[in-house]
Amino acid sequence: MSHPIPSSSIQDDDRPMKRAVLRGLLCRCPNCGKGKLLQGYLTVRDSCSACGEDFTAQRADDGPAYLTILLVGHLMAPLMLAAFVAYRPSAMTLMLVFGIGCVALTLALLPRFKGLIVAIQWSRRMHGFGHGEADVA
Ligand SMILES: [Zn+2]
Repeated sequence: MSHPIPSSSIQDDDRPMKRAVLRGLLCRCPNCGKGKLLQGYLTVRDSCSACGEDFTAQRADDGPAYLTILLVGHLMAPLMLAAFVAYRPSAMTLMLVFGIGCVALTLALLPRFKGLIVAIQWSRRMHGFGHGEADVA
């Protein structure tokens, strides 16, 4: 016999993870999706420019850099080997193509991963994101 879960124990998720993650990857506010999350290249704003959501509780720390290194390394290293085996380019060509490729991919991914991590923290109410505005001293 299955027992229905009392409705009082089911909490409505007002911060769905998937929506927040998609907005974070676009460097948008995880709450409204309209305002910008970052100012400049990588600095997280104190609050959303559209809805005013407070971002000061974020603790992205080294997470975005870690994820970027993980992805760029695991993507570019096998690609470099495959390109070398298939085309035998000169060392200078290989260095130029993959040097520029790695830098470009890193610069493109870093702010997106920062948005992703801040969005996950916001969605799961980690650190100070769980408190209301009144609790933020
Ligand atoms: Zn917003």
